[in-house]
Amino acid sequence: ESGLYLVATPIGTARDITLRALDVLNSADMLAAEDTRVMRHLLDIHGVPLRGRRILSHHDHNADRSQPILMAALRDGASVAFASDAGTPLISDPGFRLAREAAEADIRIHAIPGPSAPLVALSVSGLPSDRFLFAGFPPATKGQRKTWLKKWAEVDATVILFESPRRVNQTLRELCEIDPDRLTVVARELTKKFEEVIRGKAKELADDPRIAALKGEVVLLLDRATPVQADDDTIRTALRARLALM
Ligand code: SAM
Repeated sequence: ESGLYLVATPIGTARDITLRALDVLNSADMLAAEDTRVMRHLLDIHGVPLRGRRILSHHDHNADRSQPILMAALRDGASVAFASDAGTPLISDPGFRLAREAAEADIRIHAIPGPSAPLVALSVSGLPSDRFLFAGFPPATKGQRKTWLKKWAEVDATVILFESPRRVNQTLRELCEIDPDRLTVVARELTKKFEEVIRGKAKELADDPRIAALKGEVVLLLDRATPVQADDDTIRTALRARLALM
């Protein structure tokens, strides 16, 4: 069937690819990938032949050139399979602009679901999973990060974020300034050989030597904010403090 196929690929273990993903990669008229070498490697591992098809490079920096080519093929009724380097396309990965243009052009979008680091991390975290918020990567500059963290730390949901291993420690320290007792989970190298899940209060993890020496790919998760207990005494004290300021 024609349309845009957004194909999820493994985040570590090569065999974490679905049979349907392989079918689609095998049968699509056109293949596109964030990194063509990564896709070629994936096809090789699973014995999917190219049969003369070329793999078009499509990422944020060349989308101005690649997207019109993909859209023209889609408008012609082709089936186009797109995969990012790892996990689910669009999730802190390229694909959104293409999906939006396809949706606006009434082109059918097919999801080929599979691994995605935020959900894998949530599964192993032991944190509440009934309500969660995926916040993506924190901003790089320190001031912006603090404001950003504070905003999400107040949300009444498990918060999932991506972080570079070099900065996890700093982020935990910043979280300590907001809520040192917040239950926090660091999940690294998920589905890979050195998979590790470290749980503890923010203040404990900030001093944990394992975090200081962290390597690999990391997802950080925060438990939801504990609701403020508004008993009579708390309200009275808060009111007195306000009145004293007037
Ligand atoms: N689209 C991808 C997905 O659905 O999983 C996410 C892509 S994003 C550019 C890459 C980030 O995802 C990494 O920096 C890391 O935070 C997280 N990540 C990806 N694979 C991971 C793994 N195996 N273990 C832990 N985190 C991972």
